[in-house]
Amino acid sequence: MGRSVNPKSGAGDGVKFQAIVVGGGIVGLSAAWHLIRSGLRRVLVLERYILASGATGLGTGSVHTQRWHAIDSALILRSKRVMRELSERSGGAFRLYPVGRLTLAGERDEPIVRNYAAQLRSAGVDAVELSPREVAERFPGVNVSDVAVALHTGDDGIVYPPALLWTLAGFFRNDGGTIWEGCEVRRIAVEHRVARGIELANGDTIESDRVIVAAGIWTRQILRASGFDLVLKHSVAHTAVVTVGRADLWLQVPSLLDGTQGLIAIPRNPGTIMASNAAGEYEASKETAQAVLKARSVEVQRADAAFFEKKAVQQRHILRQLRHRYRDHDVRGVVGHWAGLLDGTPDSHPYVGPFPKVEAFWVGCCLTGYGVQRGPGVGEALAQLALERPLSVDMDAYRLDRFDPAFDFQIDMSGDNPFEGFREPREWPAMVTDRE
Ligand SMILES: Cc1cc2nc3c(=O)[nH]c(=O)nc-3n(C[C@H](O)[C@H](O)[C@H](O)COP(=O)(O)OP(=O)(O)OC[C@H]3O[C@@H](n4cnc5c(N)ncnc54)[C@H](O)[C@@H]3O)c2cc1C
Repeated sequence: MGRSVNPKSGAGDGVKFQAIVVGGGIVGLSAAWHLIRSGLRRVLVLERYILASGATGLGTGSVHTQRWHAIDSALILRSKRVMRELSERSGGAFRLYPVGRLTLAGERDEPIVRNYAAQLRSAGVDAVELSPREVAERFPGVNVSDVAVALHTGDDGIVYPPALLWTLAGFFRNDGGTIWEGCEVRRIAVEHRVARGIELANGDTIESDRVIVAAGIWTRQILRASGFDLVLKHSVAHTAVVTVGRADLWLQVPSLLDGTQGLIAIPRNPGTIMASNAAGEYEASKETAQAVLKARSVEVQRADAAFFEKKAVQQRHILRQLRHRYRDHDVRGVVGHWAGLLDGTPDSHPYVGPFPKVEAFWVGCCLTGYGVQRGPGVGEALAQLALERPLSVDMDAYRLDRFDPAFDFQIDMSGDNPFEGFREPREWPAMVTDRE
């Protein structure tokens, strides 16, 4: 490859890095921090905008071990360990608020929930079933009239994703790591099937012994520009910001998966709940994909008229659903909303591992709507792979060569959630106006 250039100084100073990480999101920063704390000295993170400008900055922040695949539970438990360490080392500047995760189910789904609880326990998760009466005792003000059983994981909670990212970035810098923002990577420089570094959008090249791409939904773009490909699609995730009058109760609002109504409701700050429902996640058109890939995630709003239709429907129903569930919490109204793109695979599992048949090159992406809670563990695994160290969590189910690159697929939004009640109904109930 050509001479190594420091794009900040514009000088060809020949600096060769021991590792380059492409992407300043949770996966990239976690990988970078784990590389440097494992003993590498020259590790560079390249971010095309600013840190957390991708999905991580938009994440709601629910961190919960209630996943349908045991392997994911192991990864989330690992991520929580990393978060606990960051919290302790930062003196609490970053925190996981232990509000717990609560899944509510009606009669029809009771057997699924009980079976799922047993699976989670066998994966090492401290999951308990609660009766409606126990839910009402633990979470005063929660309406349990339509609840047959609940699943509770009390150690789960919520984080503020940008705080998690900036804490990681702080430790990474303190340990000697380098972050360059505003540096867009065009492609991976590969010679004789060995990654030698990267080429920036301005044509400069930077040499490195190892390259990790953790660029979220943009990963495919970088791979294609480098002559490779991965089966990867994106969907839109849309969240409403709802104000709640009883700010004093905010830590008593669990991270909620309401399977009877098809609602996710997560406390974010005192007096606010971030909420989403089945209308909030959908596979967007190709035009949206292209517009978003060229722009920042939030600009999806400009790209797709369907987004606005979905938004209006979603918000009306969210309010009704929240008022039904939290009768005593004084749910006031939707004050804002945002959307972002999620990257996904045909089986909803991420990609984590070496790029097939290319040396010194690893990829971590496609964490769907569960990347804040899995990202710290994925980053750690990428670092362990790149340093040929033993893995803390087996990554075999996430390997990159598990699909034919020509395979097309629909994103199955219900894949993470087997409750029928959570699937988008064929017809939405009649609309209600705010504050009927
Ligand atoms: C609305 C919403 C709510 C969510 N809620 C939750 C939740 O409650 N819990 C949960 O666990 N997860 C949640 N998620 C999912 C989670 O946010 C993502 O899975 C996770 O942040 C993905 O992290 P990442 O590092 O893979 O990607 P990103 O955070 O997208 O990082 C990729 C980075 O790469 C950069 N980049 C791209 N191309 C280039 C290039 N060519 N050169 C250099 N840099 C580049 C981007 O700018 C970006 O900063 C939510 C997501 C959204 C959108």
